[in-house]
Amino acid sequence: MQFDLEADLVKAKAKDLGADLVGIVGADTLNEFPPDPKWPQTPERISPFARSVVVVAKRIPVGAFRAKTNVPVQYIDMLVLRAMDRAAYRLSCWMEDQGFPSFVTAAQETDWSYKKASYGRLSTRHLGIEAGLGTFGLEVNILTPEFGPRIYLTGILTEARIAADERITEQVCIGESCSRCLYSCPPDAVRHFGIDKRGCATEAQEFGFSTIMKFWQHFIGEPPERRRKLLRDREIFGFWQGLLRVVGSFGDCPRCLAVCPVGNDYHAHLADIQKQIPEKTPEKVVKAKAFKEARRSGDPVDGLNDWNVRWVGPDGYKGIVARQLQAFKRTQQEKEHEAEQRRQLETSGE
Ligand code: SF4
Ligand code: SF4
Repeated sequence: MQFDLEADLVKAKAKDLGADLVGIVGADTLNEFPPDPKWPQTPERISPFARSVVVVAKRIPVGAFRAKTNVPVQYIDMLVLRAMDRAAYRLSCWMEDQGFPSFVTAAQETDWSYKKASYGRLSTRHLGIEAGLGTFGLEVNILTPEFGPRIYLTGILTEARIAADERITEQVCIGESCSRCLYSCPPDAVRHFGIDKRGCATEAQEFGFSTIMKFWQHFIGEPPERRRKLLRDREIFGFWQGLLRVVGSFGDCPRCLAVCPVGNDYHAHLADIQKQIPEKTPEKVVKAKAFKEARRSGDPVDGLNDWNVRWVGPDGYKGIVARQLQAFKRTQQEKEHEAEQRRQLETSGE
């Protein structure tokens, strides 16, 4: 096939503009494999002209996951989203300068004509997987080998034909024998390669849309004196803060991101502080064991059915995290060895 733009050039430009990871997928592939065929989140429903989607990811710095409360992650999420959108916007402008109409999609939108709950015109997690950046975790976040689930993604729809990346077919997630995301989840919303979105929203969107609706539905039925009191409620402050800084309205719960042992950022800075999971309960351990048994016996599991396994990694788990950890330790040892040699040279030269 004849390509309009060189994939390496597009990726180098994206990195120059601030992307941490970049992948490319053909619009045809996304049209052929919608996450849920009943509610197709596909480029053709947005633009009939899109030929490729350039997927740009920005990592969430790990420092915030070492803090005592969730607030630093909540704030940094917003900064990461802004930086990611800026990088993607500039890349789309650059692609237009090369002669190919291009635009950034809204990464965190919800389209009410589709399913209820947060369900946008495209699923950025699926975009990332189709563009070869990672595979699903047990909690259906995208897990990248580089940063695990600690990333945000967006897509640029372009009319340029660009060579697509290969999907990762090996499961990046350790799976049922790890289940750390399941143990850490406060409302126990993690399913077997699935998620209870409503359950998750109680923590992840404390002051999100459904909380706002609940509050006002309650408010309008109250007598005037009670309403005056409700206007000074903590929730009103939460809504204001959510509108102003996104804090509280979105990406509020960092637990499954913080404890996932995939990615060198975890090995370097989170393994110590996140090793113990205070939210782990005997009930969750039983649940993880049942998942493991179901997988072992080949019981029907929605998240692993013939359609969905594409995004989990059809080849199954082959030890990518163990390999990555070994390589990481080797590099650390080499660095320490080099530092020691430098110290010795400096001492002998004194
Ligand atoms: S915490 Fe473990 S089970 Fe959960 S997504 Fe990460 S690797 Fe998979
Ligand atoms: S974001 Fe929080 S509530 Fe949602 S699945 Fe992850 S740990 Fe559970």
